[in-house]
Amino acid sequence: MVSKELPFTKEEILKIMEKYPTPFHIYDEKAIRENARRLKKAFEDLPGFKEFFAVKALPNPYILKLLKEEGFGADCSSLPELILAEKAGITGEDIMFSSNDTPAEEFVKAKELGAYINLDDISHIEYLEKHAGLPEIVCFRYNPGPLKEGNAIIGTPEEAKYGFTREQLFEGYRILKEKGVKRFGMHTMVASNELDPKYFVETARLLFELIVEISKEVGIKFDFVNLGGGIGIPYRPEQEAVPYDVIVKGAKAAYDETIGASGLDRVSVFLECGRVITGPYGYLISQVRHLKHTYKDYVGLDSCMANLMRPGLYGAYHHITVLGKEKEALDHTYDVTGSLCENNDKFAINRELPEIEVGDLLAIHDSGAHGHAMGFNYNGKLRSAELLLREDGSVVMIRRAETIEDYFATLDFEGLKEFE
Ligand SMILES: *Cc1c(COP(=O)(O)O)cnc(C)c1O
Repeated sequence: MVSKELPFTKEEILKIMEKYPTPFHIYDEKAIRENARRLKKAFEDLPGFKEFFAVKALPNPYILKLLKEEGFGADCSSLPELILAEKAGITGEDIMFSSNDTPAEEFVKAKELGAYINLDDISHIEYLEKHAGLPEIVCFRYNPGPLKEGNAIIGTPEEAKYGFTREQLFEGYRILKEKGVKRFGMHTMVASNELDPKYFVETARLLFELIVEISKEVGIKFDFVNLGGGIGIPYRPEQEAVPYDVIVKGAKAAYDETIGASGLDRVSVFLECGRVITGPYGYLISQVRHLKHTYKDYVGLDSCMANLMRPGLYGAYHHITVLGKEKEALDHTYDVTGSLCENNDKFAINRELPEIEVGDLLAIHDSGAHGHAMGFNYNGKLRSAELLLREDGSVVMIRRAETIEDYFATLDFEGLKEFE
C-alpha cells in the first residue's frame, strides 16, 4: 500500500486558483528533491553512479535545473530536449543523447554540447561520422531480443524498433576501435513502468556479462554502462514503490561477480529514469463543470485527455482525490470525463468516489511524468499551466497555459482573406 495523501489542502488550492485558474499541473518540489536524494543515496554503492533524468517525462527547464542541483544529468532524445538541458545549465557529459531515427542536426548539436552519444543502429556510426564527426566516446544501445522478456508498455524486445542485435554490438565496437574511438559505453532500455526490482537486476547482469565478453574479445575498455529507465511507480494505492535498495544490492552483486571478478577497470553505472523521479509528485488539478446522469453517472471536468492522456491512451489508472472530501465514504460510482469529442476521454471509468457536486476540485495523481508532456491540441484543446509548489509553500508558474493565440500561431488569417 502507498499513501495517496496530498501535499496541499483544498483551502491552499483555492488560494492558488485566485491567481492561476484550473486546470493546472502542480509539482511538489520538496518531494521531488527528497526522492532524488533517496535514489542517489541508495545507488551510490554502484561504481561511478549517475542518474540522467529522462527529459521527455517532464520537459520543463525549471524541473531540470532543480534536478541538476541534486546532481542529476539529462537524458535527451531530440533537438528541443537538448536545448532545454542546455538552458537549464546541463551540458557536456551530464547529457546522455539516446535517440532513434535521428536527424543529422541533432547529432551535430549533441556533439557540440559534448554529450554522450548513444547510437541506436550500426548504420549510424557512418552517419554520425559523416555529419558531426565521431566523438571521443560512443555508446551503443543494445536490444537483447529473445534473451530478454519485455513488459506490457514496451513490448517484447524482438518486436521493438530499438537498438543493436548482439552480433552488431561486437561488429560495431570493432569498427569504432578501428576508427580510433578511445572510450565506450553500452546502454539498454527494455522495460517501462516495471515494478519488479528483479527485472532491473537481471538486466544489469545481462549487460555486465556482455561488457566482460566484448571487452576481452574486441580489446576495448568501457567507461560506462547505462541500464536505461523504466522503473515503475505505484499508480494504484494497493501497489508498492520499487525498493531502490533491492535493485542496488542485486546489481552490486552482479557487478562484483562479472566486471569486478574479471579484473577489468571500473565501469560506471548509469540510469536514465524519468517516471520514478517526478511521476508521483505531480497532480492535475481540475474543477467539476457538469454532472450528467444517463445510463451511467458522469463527472465532466474542465480538463481533458489533452492534459493527461495516459488513461485514454493505455487505460492507465490514475488515482483521484476529491479535495475537501478526503475522509468521506466512496459510495458513488462515476466515469470521470473530459470535454474532448472522443469517448476514450475518460480519466476514470466506474471509479468509486464520494458524492460529487458541480464546482468540486479533483486532484488526479501521478501526473508528474508523461502527463503535461504528452499534451496535444486535437479538437482545439489547449495545454494547461504548470506550477511548482516550492519547499516554503509558495507557488511559481513554471509554464503558462496556452492561449487561443498560441493555437492559431501557425495559421495565416491575412492570407486567408486573399485566398479564393
Ligand atoms: C522513455 C525513456 C526513458 C525514461 O523512461 P521512464 O519510464 O520514464 O523511466 C529512458 N530512456 C529512454 C531511451 C527512453 O525512451
